[in-house]
Amino acid sequence: MFDERLRQLAAQHLLRRLRLVESEPGAVVSIEGRSVILMASNNYLGLATHPALKKAAIAATERFGVGAGASRLVTGTLPPHAQLETELARFKGTESSLVFSSGYLANIGLIPALIGDGGLILADRLCHASLIDGCRLSGADFRVYRHRDLTQLESLLARRSARRETLIVTDGVFSMDGDLAPLPELIALAERYDARVLVDDAHGTGIMGTHGRGTLEHFGVESRLPFHMGTLGKALGTSGAYVAGSADFISYLVNTARSFIYTTAPPPASAAASLAALDLVRTEPERRARLWNHRHYFYDGLMELGFRTTDTRSPIIPVLIGDPQKALATADRLLQLGVFAPAIRPPTVPRETSRIRTTVTAEHTREQLNSVLATFKQAGEELRLI
Ligand SMILES: *Cc1c(COP(=O)(O)O)cnc(C)c1O
Repeated sequence: MFDERLRQLAAQHLLRRLRLVESEPGAVVSIEGRSVILMASNNYLGLATHPALKKAAIAATERFGVGAGASRLVTGTLPPHAQLETELARFKGTESSLVFSSGYLANIGLIPALIGDGGLILADRLCHASLIDGCRLSGADFRVYRHRDLTQLESLLARRSARRETLIVTDGVFSMDGDLAPLPELIALAERYDARVLVDDAHGTGIMGTHGRGTLEHFGVESRLPFHMGTLGKALGTSGAYVAGSADFISYLVNTARSFIYTTAPPPASAAASLAALDLVRTEPERRARLWNHRHYFYDGLMELGFRTTDTRSPIIPVLIGDPQKALATADRLLQLGVFAPAIRPPTVPRETSRIRTTVTAEHTREQLNSVLATFKQAGEELRLI
Protein backbone atom coordinates (compact mmCIF):
# COMPACT_ATOMS: atom_id res chain seq x y z
CA MET A 1 0.00 0.00 0.00
CA PHE A 2 2.71 2.48 0.96
CA ASP A 3 4.94 1.47 -1.94
CA GLU A 4 2.01 1.71 -4.35
CA ARG A 5 1.39 5.30 -3.21
CA LEU A 6 5.09 6.12 -3.44
CA ARG A 7 5.22 4.71 -6.99
CA GLN A 8 2.24 6.88 -7.94
CA LEU A 9 3.89 9.98 -6.52
CA ALA A 10 7.12 9.21 -8.37
CA ALA A 11 5.20 8.69 -11.64
CA GLN A 12 3.59 12.11 -11.20
CA HIS A 13 6.98 13.69 -10.36
CA LEU A 14 5.64 14.55 -6.93
CA LEU A 15 7.85 12.30 -4.82
CA ARG A 16 9.86 14.18 -2.21
CA ARG A 17 13.05 13.15 -0.51
CA LEU A 18 15.23 14.51 2.21
CA ARG A 19 18.76 15.65 1.51
CA LEU A 20 21.53 15.61 4.06
CA VAL A 21 23.20 18.99 4.55
CA GLU A 22 26.50 18.52 6.35
CA SER A 23 27.21 22.14 7.35
CA GLU A 24 25.66 25.11 9.12
CA PRO A 25 22.62 26.46 7.23
CA GLY A 26 24.44 29.60 6.00
CA ALA A 27 24.58 31.15 2.52
CA VAL A 28 26.84 28.29 1.39
CA VAL A 29 26.11 24.73 2.50
CA SER A 30 27.73 21.39 1.99
CA ILE A 31 25.60 18.72 0.29
CA GLU A 32 27.00 15.31 -0.56
CA GLY A 33 30.48 16.68 -0.09
CA ARG A 34 30.00 19.67 -2.40
CA SER A 35 29.69 23.33 -1.48
CA VAL A 36 26.62 24.93 -3.01
CA ILE A 37 24.91 28.30 -2.60
CA LEU A 38 21.69 27.94 -0.63
CA MET A 39 18.86 29.97 -2.17
CA ALA A 40 15.92 28.49 -0.27
CA SER A 41 16.24 29.31 3.41
CA ASN A 42 13.87 31.56 5.36
CA ASN A 43 16.80 32.57 7.56
CA TYR A 44 16.47 36.02 5.95
CA LEU A 45 18.72 37.94 8.32
CA GLY A 46 21.33 35.20 8.67
CA LEU A 47 20.63 34.90 12.40
CA ALA A 48 20.40 31.09 12.52
CA THR A 49 24.19 30.85 12.68
CA HIS A 50 24.89 34.13 14.50
CA PRO A 51 27.42 33.88 17.39
CA ALA A 52 25.21 35.93 19.75
CA LEU A 53 22.34 33.47 19.33
CA LYS A 54 24.61 30.47 19.82
CA LYS A 55 26.06 32.05 22.94
CA ALA A 56 22.61 32.78 24.38
CA ALA A 57 21.46 29.23 23.64
CA ILE A 58 24.53 27.73 25.31
CA ALA A 59 24.21 29.97 28.38
CA ALA A 60 20.52 29.06 28.78
CA THR A 61 21.35 25.38 28.42
CA GLU A 62 24.06 25.59 31.08
CA ARG A 63 21.69 27.36 33.44
CA PHE A 64 18.31 25.71 32.77
CA GLY A 65 19.09 22.40 31.07
CA VAL A 66 18.23 21.04 27.68
CA GLY A 67 14.54 20.27 27.97
CA ALA A 68 11.64 22.14 29.60
CA GLY A 69 10.39 18.87 31.07
CA ALA A 70 6.68 19.30 30.43
CA SER A 71 4.00 21.73 29.37
CA ARG A 72 4.35 25.10 31.11
CA LEU A 73 1.01 24.53 32.82
CA VAL A 74 2.53 21.47 34.51
CA THR A 75 6.10 22.41 35.41
CA GLY A 76 5.96 26.19 35.24
CA THR A 77 7.52 28.84 33.06
CA LEU A 78 11.30 29.21 32.87
CA PRO A 79 12.81 32.72 32.83
CA PRO A 80 13.82 32.63 29.12
CA HIS A 81 10.22 31.92 28.09
CA ALA A 82 8.84 34.67 30.33
CA GLN A 83 11.42 37.19 29.11
CA LEU A 84 10.81 36.28 25.49
CA GLU A 85 7.07 36.85 25.86
CA THR A 86 7.66 40.23 27.52
CA GLU A 87 10.05 41.30 24.76
CA LEU A 88 7.83 40.01 21.94
CA ALA A 89 4.88 41.98 23.34
CA ARG A 90 7.06 45.08 23.61
CA PHE A 91 8.32 44.58 20.04
CA LYS A 92 4.80 44.12 18.72
CA GLY A 93 3.27 46.89 20.82
CA THR A 94 0.73 44.60 22.52
CA GLU A 95 0.00 44.00 26.19
CA SER A 96 1.06 40.42 26.10
CA SER A 97 2.22 37.50 24.00
CA LEU A 98 2.31 33.71 24.14
CA VAL A 99 5.04 31.49 22.73
CA PHE A 100 4.23 28.19 21.01
CA SER A 101 6.70 25.46 20.03
CA SER A 102 6.16 26.08 16.32
CA GLY A 103 4.05 28.09 13.91
CA TYR A 104 2.20 24.97 12.90
CA LEU A 105 1.23 24.34 16.52
CA ALA A 106 0.28 27.99 17.08
CA ASN A 107 -2.13 27.94 14.14
CA ILE A 108 -3.80 24.64 14.94
CA GLY A 109 -4.34 25.85 18.53
CA LEU A 110 -5.21 29.46 17.88
CA ILE A 111 -7.91 29.03 15.23
CA PRO A 112 -10.04 26.50 17.15
CA ALA A 113 -9.70 28.82 20.18
CA LEU A 114 -11.08 31.68 18.09
CA ILE A 115 -14.02 30.02 16.38
CA GLY A 116 -15.96 26.76 16.39
CA ASP A 117 -19.18 25.02 15.33
CA GLY A 118 -21.62 27.44 13.78
CA GLY A 119 -18.93 29.96 12.85
CA LEU A 120 -17.65 30.79 9.38
CA ILE A 121 -14.01 31.02 8.29
CA LEU A 122 -13.04 32.79 5.06
CA ALA A 123 -9.45 32.04 4.08
CA ASP A 124 -7.22 33.11 1.21
CA ARG A 125 -6.72 30.19 -1.17
CA LEU A 126 -2.94 30.38 -0.78
CA CYS A 127 -2.91 30.36 3.03
CA HIS A 128 -0.23 28.26 4.68
CA ALA A 129 -1.13 24.59 5.31
CA SER A 130 -0.99 25.11 9.09
CA LEU A 131 -3.76 27.71 8.83
CA ILE A 132 -5.85 25.38 6.69
CA ASP A 133 -5.39 22.58 9.23
CA GLY A 134 -6.35 24.94 12.06
CA CYS A 135 -9.48 25.93 10.14
CA ARG A 136 -10.42 22.29 9.62
CA LEU A 137 -9.84 21.43 13.27
CA SER A 138 -12.03 24.29 14.46
CA GLY A 139 -15.25 22.70 13.25
CA ALA A 140 -16.40 26.02 11.74
CA ASP A 141 -17.59 26.18 8.12
CA PHE A 142 -14.59 26.93 6.02
CA ARG A 143 -14.60 28.67 2.63
CA VAL A 144 -11.66 29.88 0.58
CA TYR A 145 -11.62 33.03 -1.54
CA ARG A 146 -9.41 33.53 -4.59
CA HIS A 147 -5.94 34.73 -3.78
CA ARG A 148 -6.09 38.36 -2.55
CA ASP A 149 -9.51 38.77 -4.18
CA LEU A 150 -11.32 41.24 -1.94
CA THR A 151 -14.30 41.44 -4.29
CA GLN A 152 -14.97 37.77 -3.75
CA LEU A 153 -14.26 38.10 -0.05
CA GLU A 154 -16.79 40.91 0.19
CA SER A 155 -19.44 38.94 -1.61
CA LEU A 156 -18.91 36.01 0.78
CA LEU A 157 -19.18 38.40 3.72
CA ALA A 158 -22.31 40.01 2.34
CA ARG A 159 -24.02 36.70 1.64
CA ARG A 160 -23.62 35.11 5.06
CA SER A 161 -26.40 35.52 7.57
CA ALA A 162 -25.74 38.67 9.57
CA ARG A 163 -24.35 38.20 13.05
CA ARG A 164 -22.80 34.88 12.11
CA GLU A 165 -19.44 34.74 13.83
CA THR A 166 -16.82 35.15 11.09
CA LEU A 167 -13.04 34.91 10.96
CA ILE A 168 -10.95 35.99 7.97
CA VAL A 169 -7.62 34.17 7.75
CA THR A 170 -4.62 35.25 5.69
CA ASP A 171 -0.84 35.13 5.49
CA GLY A 172 0.77 38.60 5.74
CA VAL A 173 3.55 37.69 3.28
CA PHE A 174 2.47 34.61 1.34
CA SER A 175 4.98 31.85 1.95
CA MET A 176 5.23 30.43 -1.57
CA ASP A 177 4.42 33.53 -3.68
CA GLY A 178 6.12 36.24 -1.64
CA ASP A 179 3.33 38.72 -2.31
CA LEU A 180 1.42 40.59 0.39
CA ALA A 181 -2.13 40.41 1.65
CA PRO A 182 -3.91 43.74 0.96
CA LEU A 183 -4.20 44.33 4.69
CA PRO A 184 -5.57 47.89 4.88
CA GLU A 185 -8.45 47.11 2.54
CA LEU A 186 -9.00 43.67 4.03
CA ILE A 187 -9.19 45.09 7.56
CA ALA A 188 -11.60 47.79 6.38
CA LEU A 189 -13.86 45.09 4.92
CA ALA A 190 -13.69 43.11 8.15
CA GLU A 191 -14.64 46.21 10.12
CA ARG A 192 -17.55 46.95 7.82
CA TYR A 193 -18.90 43.40 8.06
CA ASP A 194 -18.04 42.83 11.70
CA ALA A 195 -15.63 39.96 11.09
CA ARG A 196 -12.39 39.20 12.89
CA VAL A 197 -9.04 38.89 11.12
CA LEU A 198 -6.17 36.52 11.80
CA VAL A 199 -2.91 37.50 10.09
CA ASP A 200 -0.11 34.93 10.03
CA ASP A 201 3.07 36.99 9.76
CA ALA A 202 5.56 34.12 9.64
CA HIS A 203 7.49 35.68 6.75
CA GLY A 204 7.01 39.34 7.69
CA THR A 205 8.31 39.32 11.25
CA GLY A 206 11.84 40.68 11.42
CA ILE A 207 12.01 41.99 7.85
CA MET A 208 8.90 43.98 6.90
CA GLY A 209 8.34 47.54 8.08
CA THR A 210 10.94 50.13 9.00
CA HIS A 211 11.64 48.46 12.35
CA GLY A 212 11.11 44.90 11.18
CA ARG A 213 7.96 44.53 13.24
CA GLY A 214 6.26 42.87 10.29
CA THR A 215 3.63 43.25 7.61
CA LEU A 216 1.27 45.13 9.94
CA GLU A 217 3.97 47.76 10.46
CA HIS A 218 4.65 47.84 6.70
CA PHE A 219 1.01 48.78 6.06
CA GLY A 220 0.63 50.98 9.16
CA VAL A 221 -2.22 48.86 10.54
CA GLU A 222 -0.74 47.62 13.82
CA SER A 223 -3.31 49.37 15.96
CA ARG A 224 -6.24 48.04 13.92
CA LEU A 225 -5.84 44.35 14.78
CA PRO A 226 -6.24 43.19 18.39
CA PHE A 227 -4.02 40.13 17.83
CA HIS A 228 -1.91 38.35 15.24
CA MET A 229 0.62 35.54 15.07
CA GLY A 230 4.08 35.07 13.64
CA THR A 231 6.96 32.64 13.84
CA LEU A 232 10.50 32.64 15.18
CA GLY A 233 11.96 30.06 12.80
CA LYS A 234 12.30 32.34 9.80
CA ALA A 235 13.90 35.80 10.00
CA LEU A 236 14.60 35.32 13.71
CA GLY A 237 16.60 32.21 12.88
CA THR A 238 15.47 30.06 15.82
CA SER A 239 12.24 28.09 16.24
CA GLY A 240 8.82 28.52 17.75
CA ALA A 241 6.02 31.03 17.24
CA TYR A 242 4.07 33.67 19.09
CA VAL A 243 0.62 35.15 19.34
CA ALA A 244 0.61 38.83 20.33
CA GLY A 245 -2.50 40.40 21.83
CA SER A 246 -4.22 41.72 24.94
CA ALA A 247 -3.49 40.20 28.35
CA ASP A 248 -7.02 38.78 28.51
CA PHE A 249 -6.73 37.21 25.10
CA ILE A 250 -3.42 35.58 26.02
CA SER A 251 -4.90 34.20 29.28
CA TYR A 252 -7.77 32.86 27.25
CA LEU A 253 -5.30 31.05 24.95
CA VAL A 254 -3.39 29.61 27.93
CA ASN A 255 -6.70 28.08 28.96
CA THR A 256 -8.00 26.95 25.59
CA ALA A 257 -5.30 26.48 22.92
CA ARG A 258 -4.76 22.72 22.98
CA SER A 259 -1.46 22.92 21.10
CA PHE A 260 -0.14 25.13 23.91
CA ILE A 261 -1.59 23.13 26.77
CA TYR A 262 -0.82 19.59 25.65
CA THR A 263 2.76 19.87 24.44
CA THR A 264 6.18 20.24 26.02
CA ALA A 265 7.40 23.85 26.21
CA PRO A 266 10.20 24.80 23.78
CA PRO A 267 13.74 24.17 25.03
CA PRO A 268 15.11 27.07 27.12
CA ALA A 269 17.95 27.40 24.57
CA SER A 270 15.45 28.16 21.85
CA ALA A 271 13.71 30.89 23.87
CA ALA A 272 17.04 32.44 24.87
CA ALA A 273 18.27 32.42 21.26
CA SER A 274 15.01 34.06 20.15
CA LEU A 275 15.55 36.81 22.71
CA ALA A 276 19.04 37.43 21.31
CA ALA A 277 17.58 37.48 17.79
CA LEU A 278 14.95 40.06 18.75
CA ASP A 279 17.70 42.21 20.16
CA LEU A 280 19.62 42.09 16.85
CA VAL A 281 16.47 42.84 14.85
CA ARG A 282 16.09 45.98 16.95
CA THR A 283 19.69 47.10 17.14
CA GLU A 284 21.09 46.14 13.73
CA PRO A 285 18.76 47.62 11.09
CA GLU A 286 21.67 47.37 8.64
CA ARG A 287 20.93 43.63 8.36
CA ARG A 288 17.48 44.48 7.00
CA ALA A 289 18.97 47.11 4.68
CA ARG A 290 21.44 44.55 3.32
CA LEU A 291 18.67 41.99 2.86
CA TRP A 292 16.47 44.38 0.84
CA ASN A 293 19.41 45.59 -1.18
CA HIS A 294 20.26 41.99 -2.16
CA ARG A 295 16.63 41.17 -2.74
CA HIS A 296 16.13 44.00 -5.24
CA TYR A 297 19.40 43.19 -7.01
CA PHE A 298 18.56 39.50 -7.40
CA TYR A 299 14.94 40.18 -8.39
CA ASP A 300 16.04 42.64 -11.10
CA GLY A 301 18.64 40.14 -12.33
CA LEU A 302 16.09 37.34 -12.70
CA MET A 303 13.64 39.64 -14.47
CA GLU A 304 16.32 40.84 -16.88
CA LEU A 305 17.02 37.23 -17.76
CA GLY A 306 13.35 36.82 -18.63
CA PHE A 307 12.12 34.48 -15.88
CA ARG A 308 8.49 34.57 -14.80
CA THR A 309 7.57 35.34 -11.21
CA THR A 310 4.64 36.41 -9.04
CA ASP A 311 3.72 39.83 -7.70
CA THR A 312 6.35 39.28 -5.00
CA ARG A 313 7.26 42.15 -2.66
CA SER A 314 9.50 40.15 -0.36
CA PRO A 315 12.79 38.19 -0.35
CA ILE A 316 10.77 35.18 -1.56
CA ILE A 317 11.20 35.19 -5.35
CA PRO A 318 9.52 32.25 -7.07
CA VAL A 319 10.70 31.30 -10.55
CA LEU A 320 7.47 29.99 -12.05
CA ILE A 321 7.78 26.90 -14.23
CA GLY A 322 4.40 25.15 -14.22
CA ASP A 323 5.01 21.49 -14.88
CA PRO A 324 6.33 19.55 -11.83
CA GLN A 325 8.66 17.39 -13.95
CA LYS A 326 10.25 20.44 -15.49
CA ALA A 327 10.55 22.12 -12.11
CA LEU A 328 12.34 19.04 -10.77
CA ALA A 329 14.67 18.94 -13.78
CA THR A 330 15.49 22.61 -13.22
CA ALA A 331 16.22 22.08 -9.52
CA ASP A 332 18.46 19.10 -10.35
CA ARG A 333 20.38 21.08 -12.94
CA LEU A 334 20.78 24.05 -10.60
CA LEU A 335 22.16 21.75 -7.92
CA GLN A 336 24.64 20.19 -10.36
CA LEU A 337 25.77 23.71 -11.19
CA GLY A 338 26.15 24.64 -7.51
CA VAL A 339 22.85 26.27 -6.49
CA PHE A 340 20.48 24.65 -4.00
CA ALA A 341 16.89 25.81 -4.51
CA PRO A 342 14.44 22.93 -4.56
CA ALA A 343 11.35 22.56 -6.74
CA ILE A 344 8.10 23.37 -4.95
CA ARG A 345 5.26 21.25 -6.30
CA PRO A 346 1.66 20.34 -5.43
CA PRO A 347 0.17 20.02 -2.90
CA THR A 348 2.32 22.86 -1.52
CA VAL A 349 1.35 25.02 -4.50
CA PRO A 350 -1.64 24.76 -6.89
CA ARG A 351 -1.45 22.53 -9.98
CA GLU A 352 0.44 24.02 -12.92
CA THR A 353 2.32 26.43 -10.68
CA SER A 354 5.32 24.29 -9.79
CA ARG A 355 8.30 26.51 -9.24
CA ILE A 356 11.76 27.08 -7.93
CA ARG A 357 11.18 29.14 -4.81
CA THR A 358 14.28 31.24 -4.31
CA THR A 359 14.95 33.33 -1.24
CA VAL A 360 17.62 35.93 -0.67
CA THR A 361 19.24 36.58 2.70
CA ALA A 362 21.36 39.32 4.23
CA GLU A 363 24.24 36.83 4.34
CA HIS A 364 24.56 36.35 0.59
CA THR A 365 27.27 38.40 -1.11
CA ARG A 366 27.00 40.24 -4.42
CA GLU A 367 29.47 37.76 -5.90
CA GLN A 368 27.32 34.84 -4.81
CA LEU A 369 24.19 36.43 -6.25
CA ASN A 370 26.01 37.08 -9.55
CA SER A 371 27.10 33.48 -9.66
CA VAL A 372 23.53 32.30 -8.92
CA LEU A 373 22.17 34.54 -11.71
CA ALA A 374 24.72 33.10 -14.16
CA THR A 375 23.66 29.60 -13.10
CA PHE A 376 19.97 30.43 -13.58
CA LYS A 377 20.81 31.80 -17.03
CA GLN A 378 22.57 28.60 -18.03
CA ALA A 379 19.92 26.23 -16.58
CA GLY A 380 17.10 28.42 -17.92
CA GLU A 381 18.52 28.34 -21.44
CA GLU A 382 19.22 24.61 -21.37
CA LEU A 383 15.70 23.84 -20.18
CA ARG A 384 14.13 26.50 -22.41
CA LEU A 385 12.61 28.48 -19.57
CA ILE A 386 13.91 31.75 -20.99
C1 LIG B 1 6.51 28.42 8.07
C2 LIG B 1 5.11 28.88 8.26
C3 LIG B 1 4.35 28.42 9.33
C4 LIG B 1 4.83 27.31 10.23
O1 LIG B 1 5.76 27.76 11.12
P1 LIG B 1 6.77 26.72 11.80
O2 LIG B 1 7.30 27.44 12.96
O3 LIG B 1 7.79 26.39 10.77
O4 LIG B 1 5.94 25.52 12.19
C5 LIG B 1 3.11 28.97 9.53
N1 LIG B 1 2.62 29.90 8.69
C6 LIG B 1 3.31 30.35 7.63
C7 LIG B 1 2.71 31.39 6.74
C8 LIG B 1 4.58 29.85 7.38
O5 LIG B 1 5.26 30.26 6.32
